[in-house]
Amino acid sequence: MTKDAFMSAFTFESFKCEVSFNEIVDTYTGDKTKELVLRNNSEKFRAAYLYGEGLKEIGRGKSGEKNNILGEFIGIEKNDLNSMMSFFKKYGFLFPLNNYEQFVTFQIKDVNYIKDNLEALINIFSVQDTDNIDYRTLLDSVLFLLLQKEKVIKINDNTCYKSSNKDLLHNINNANKIRFDDNSNTIQIPRDDGGTVPAFEVKDYLLGGGLNVVIIEEYENLMQDDDYSLSFLKQIVKAYVSKKTTIFSEDECLIIDFLYHFSRRISIIIPEDISLNTLFQEVVYETFTKRENDDLKQALLKISKYLIEKELNHFLSEIKPKYDADTMRPNWKLPSLFSAMYLSLFYLDSNQAMYRVCQNINCNQLFLVSKTNQVKKYCCVYCTNAVSQRRYRQKK
Ligand SMILES: [Zn+2]
Repeated sequence: MTKDAFMSAFTFESFKCEVSFNEIVDTYTGDKTKELVLRNNSEKFRAAYLYGEGLKEIGRGKSGEKNNILGEFIGIEKNDLNSMMSFFKKYGFLFPLNNYEQFVTFQIKDVNYIKDNLEALINIFSVQDTDNIDYRTLLDSVLFLLLQKEKVIKINDNTCYKSSNKDLLHNINNANKIRFDDNSNTIQIPRDDGGTVPAFEVKDYLLGGGLNVVIIEEYENLMQDDDYSLSFLKQIVKAYVSKKTTIFSEDECLIIDFLYHFSRRISIIIPEDISLNTLFQEVVYETFTKRENDDLKQALLKISKYLIEKELNHFLSEIKPKYDADTMRPNWKLPSLFSAMYLSLFYLDSNQAMYRVCQNINCNQLFLVSKTNQVKKYCCVYCTNAVSQRRYRQKK
């Protein structure tokens, strides 16, 4: 038993793997996609979550080499296949391969999907309880987690990954148009010329549970507009007007109300365009951070907490407590390296520690650092040295 295991919150064991890749050409479209080709090798891999340091490989001889599993994984650039392959060679694959005797394949785009989801969650974690909230990253990350389609990923025929449920998104996409003649929530509101216009009365959680009105004529006009870019907006408005607390939780109502007000005040949202980085034009972020949209920002923060709970609980559900009689300490039975990464977020005490981006411009990886530590700028000794050498060369 190593000293590391005694200082850790949990340990994880599996095998390293052999990785190469295939290029597949679609015989119909000619499109090329790449997939990983993987197999366990006999070399054991052991990792532990060390308080204040994060998830690390333990018992490794070579020092000086980077050892920051979460940060290195998130840091893999979209098209950098070499970094992706060396990550899996170094730490083993995301999911166990020991039941497969032959090589298995795994789509690169599925690795990217998993990586983006994890990154979005870390982004949301990182802004909590900070004085200067990065609303741009928060907005991109929250919308990314809310509006991405549900996904199941398999190795051969076995499911290894299932995204958290997207029931809310499904309900928004299937919301029906309300007919105002059979709706009891219609009222007459005064017009400038002294007359009245019919409107829906809607309970609005963004406005503190107060009532908001949607003018029926505007509602009908939008529903008749065939512009494709408005199709998601139409669904949001339908869900906004028809939402009932019997179908949606209060958190979910707030999400619908947020999407409604965001779309009306700031920008429409096109789910197909959702990405983790700069989803909108610059002006959208500028408008969002203005004072008059403080209520939207407050709602976004609340939604982000809801997502932390939802995502973590979903991905932690396969992990079971396991008492370790060798060490006489609690431990967890982890099905995969992937679940070890989510469990390391579970152990992130956001009052004590946070993820920071390494200031070495050639690295930019996330690393775990104590919240009170204002000094530590680099993820590892290697990056500290690289930056000081660069400075020294520049001086000369
Ligand atoms: Zn670094």
